[in-house]
Parts: sequence; structure tokens; C-alpha cells
Amino acid sequence: MNSLDKKAEEILDENIVIDAHFDLLMDLSAQRKLGFCKVMEKDHLENFKKGKLNCVVSSIFIENYMIPELSLRESLNQISALYQEIRESPSYFMMCKTFEDVQKAKEENKIGIFLSFEGVEPLYNDLNLLEIFYELGVRFVGITWSRRNYAADGSRFSEPDPEKNSNGLSDFGFELVKKAQKMGMIIDVSHLNDKGFWDVMKITTQPIIASHSDCRSIVNIERNLTDEQIKALASTGGVIGINALNKFASRMPENADVYDLVNNIDHIVNLVGIDFVGLGFDFCGHLRKFEPLIVTQNKVSRSFEILENHSNIPVLVEALLEKGYSDKDIKKILGENFLRVYKQVLKNDSFL
Ligand SMILES: [Zn+2]
Repeated sequence: MNSLDKKAEEILDENIVIDAHFDLLMDLSAQRKLGFCKVMEKDHLENFKKGKLNCVVSSIFIENYMIPELSLRESLNQISALYQEIRESPSYFMMCKTFEDVQKAKEENKIGIFLSFEGVEPLYNDLNLLEIFYELGVRFVGITWSRRNYAADGSRFSEPDPEKNSNGLSDFGFELVKKAQKMGMIIDVSHLNDKGFWDVMKITTQPIIASHSDCRSIVNIERNLTDEQIKALASTGGVIGINALNKFASRMPENADVYDLVNNIDHIVNLVGIDFVGLGFDFCGHLRKFEPLIVTQNKVSRSFEILENHSNIPVLVEALLEKGYSDKDIKKILGENFLRVYKQVLKNDSFL
């Protein structure tokens, strides 16, 4: 082990490491339907431990073919799968609902798991259901995935096009943001389109996060944030989690590597400072096993996540050290910035 490796390990051991976006629930739900159990322990724990991850925000995601009829049912299935998984492996995992829970997870050497919406399809048009999901543990509200729902339009995976998917928040969307913030939930604008983003900014009373987005000045797709959006988000005290997908992070996606993640971090730091960037890797390798081979084979260019999975987080820390980031800066990027938002927005007790 060279001195840089050693230093990276030390920093990771000493500090709280948070991944602000991981599609864990789809994997759990799909595998449990096939009769598997302890999926987190068997398939994910080793990578989490190698990467010294302490906390992961796990998204509830509904696939297109289930919308709208099965959205609510599938979301409940996914949450149920997580509850069962935690019950099966209580010495390794715990639910997180507050800032204090994250600290507890670190102290007890467990992986803390938060729940988030990646699109509010499970609510459809019923805001009352938000209270039920809160009680079930959901604390993050990603308003959309990259498609239209009752609250707003999602962003495109290509350049912005005002002719397409260009509506802002609906009346329901505005009410959703207000109610969620009042309840102590965190609003997440990753996947929201530009108009929706600026509508959220008009009414927010709390820090806003983009859990897994990169910089549009580096890769010009609507899914990434413009410099103006980064500044606006930082002005709320919010945080951007850097996304590891090669096509979001790099202009030369085939050759993307850890330095592209560092570039995105650098860009945000140069624009607004060190307090507004974190990690939201969006590792999806574990989901590709569900993709039909025909789809994978016919893809024009390869999608992959830089670092591949959580076990390689130390590689990013080494790259940040190489680039001259201090221990204190790296601590903020790894988790302290997101923790600041959790402390400010998430409530200790039930909102009732
Ligand atoms: Zn996403």
C-alpha cells in the first residue's frame, strides 16, 4: 500500500461517507420475487464495506410499464423488500430517517439506508399519500424521473429542447414541494427539467439537493445542471451529488475515468465553493443483469459507471488528494455537506 492509498483509507475510516443515490430497492424487490433473500448482505455488503460507505439513499423507482396502475403497489413492494432485508441482516444494516440515525449507523458500524422517491408516480395525484410514505420512512422527494408525471416534466437525456417536455411544475407539483418541505422532507431536483427546476427555486424555503447530477458546462444535456442552476442551488444551502455515469460526467464517455468525476467536483467548487458538492454515484451495474441481452447488444455506445461500484470509493479519494484537496475538503465531499442539509431539514420526531 503506498502512502496515498493509506491516507485515503484513513480519511474514509474517520469520516462519514454518504452516497446520495443508489437504486437498491429495484434489485431487492426483483430478486426477492424470485425467492432470494439476504440480497443486500450477499450482493452489496462487501462493496459497501470495501468503499467504507456509511449511508446510502435508496430510491423507489417505478418502471415505465407499471405506470400508472401499478406504481403504488410496486412502491410498497419495494419498501417491504427493504424492511424484510434489514430484518434478515440487522447487524449490518439499519433504516435512517434523521441526521442522528446516520451518526448512529457510523458508530455501530452498520450501513444506514434512507428512502427516497425517484419520481412521485406512487402518489399519482393524491397528496394525502405523502403522509403514508413519510410514516414508512421516505425522507427524500425526487419530483420526477426523466419523464412526465402529475407533478412536473422530467429532463431529457439530450440537449434541452423547449418544444419537448418543457412544462414546469403543475399545481400539484407546487403543492407537493410546499407540503414535503413543511413535513421535513428534502426536495431533490435531479431529473427535473429546467422550467421545473426554476419553479422549485421560486418557492423553496429549505436547501434543495440534486442527488445525482453532473455539470452541463462539461456535458451539455438537460439531465446535468447549468452554472446558473448550480449557483441557485448553492444559494439555498443545498448540495449536488456527483453522478458516475460516463455519459453524464465526460465528453469522451468511452474513456471516462475517475478524473472526470474530479473535473465535475472541481467545476462546482470553482463556481460556488467546497460546501455544495457531494457524492450521488448512481451505480447501476447490479441492475444490468435484468436487461435483456438484445437491448445491451443493440446499444450504440456503452454506458458504464466510473469506479463501477462502491468498493472503489478509495480511488476517488486518492484522486482528490492528488489534485490537492485537503482532508477537510474531502470530508465535506464524502458526507459532511449532505449531513448539513439532513440536520437542517429532517425532523427528529414525526411531523404530526
Ligand atoms: Zn436517476
